[in-house]
Amino acid sequence: PASKLPALGTTIFTQMSALAQQHNAINLSQGFPDFDGPRYLQQRLAYHVSQGANQYAPMTGAAALREAIADKTAALYGYLPDSNEEITVTAGATEALYAAITALVRPGDEVICFDPSYDSYAPAVTLAGGVMKRQTLQPPAFRVDWQEFHQLLSPRTRLVILNTPHNPSATVWQQSDFAALWQAIADKEIYVLSDEVYEHICFTDEGHHSVLAQPQLRERAIAVSSFGKTFHMTGWKVGYCVAPPALSAEIRKVHQYLTFSVNTPAQLALADMLRAEPQHYRELPAFYRARRDCLVQALSNSRFNILPCTGTYFLLADYSAISDLDDVSFCRWLTEKVGVAAIPLSVFCAESFPHRLIRLCFAKQETTLIAAAERLCQI
Ligand code: PMP
Ligand code: GLN
Repeated sequence: PASKLPALGTTIFTQMSALAQQHNAINLSQGFPDFDGPRYLQQRLAYHVSQGANQYAPMTGAAALREAIADKTAALYGYLPDSNEEITVTAGATEALYAAITALVRPGDEVICFDPSYDSYAPAVTLAGGVMKRQTLQPPAFRVDWQEFHQLLSPRTRLVILNTPHNPSATVWQQSDFAALWQAIADKEIYVLSDEVYEHICFTDEGHHSVLAQPQLRERAIAVSSFGKTFHMTGWKVGYCVAPPALSAEIRKVHQYLTFSVNTPAQLALADMLRAEPQHYRELPAFYRARRDCLVQALSNSRFNILPCTGTYFLLADYSAISDLDDVSFCRWLTEKVGVAAIPLSVFCAESFPHRLIRLCFAKQETTLIAAAERLCQI
């Protein structure tokens, strides 16, 4: 049959993890921890399974989890969403993003995103009949040029997708970025999809700025998050979105036929975890700062130029001093010959991105990071 996504292949994450396995390389490519999540969370999952919480959860999510998310949002961002009307639990952030895009984007609508951008946004927009409009951000700061942004706006603009802390650049949005976004769209009917899956992995003094802390913007915004990153459990695939009632109602119409509902005992366990151990996510910046600093330190004698990292569990390294290969070829070579797998940046960009940058995941034990860095210091 004629493909609806003819240009799309297997994701870079699947490709690089497979190549890493094939060559027995240390895998700093796909973003997932090589250590386990909290014991308490695991015990609560076993508990709820043993108590028979094994049938369908409510379509919108288990009430206990939605309430815990509402309270966490109030504590962190000063806004208490209505847990019945404004919070929907989804199968990872991926489903929330897909459901939001499907609910909002009509054929011919334009969607603005900032490249390098996470790979799941564009296919969802294309399947909905929308058209991507991309603004490429430049290293090392990857800041949005708001003059340039204005030129992308048109009467057909429907949605802006942002991601902070940002995968893959490891930069974060500042309050001034949200102010500039609001100024640009205030008088237009444009919605905002804010991917905040790394909300608890932010290293700046100010901390993470959520769209939910922006009183005007949040009236038009869908904030998306995921427990996979926060609790070191990427395989659990439980995420959620927070949006005003009318927007949530539309997203739920998609969600109820995409998955209907999400794994019941995992939701109940996550609700217990959020209530019992809020220090887990409060301590996450320090936890990941130590790993980031370990990798940066271990690479200090290498020929890589390390870029600043203010959020996420990814570090960018410039290999201009090492090789003239393009980034995709360099990552293949690195995996096959040096024994370390990384992600090339250009795959997150629709337009040419002629920089020599790779992404290294530091959600790893220190022994893994040091072993990888030893190899990277040899080249
Ligand atoms: N958005 C970004 C920016 C991500 O990095 C990821 C996953 N790594 C996701 C969304 C998807 O999250 P989930 O695994 O919860 O579907
Ligand atoms: N988001 C993860 C990353 O950036 C990968 C998720 C996936 O494999 N789809 O590495």
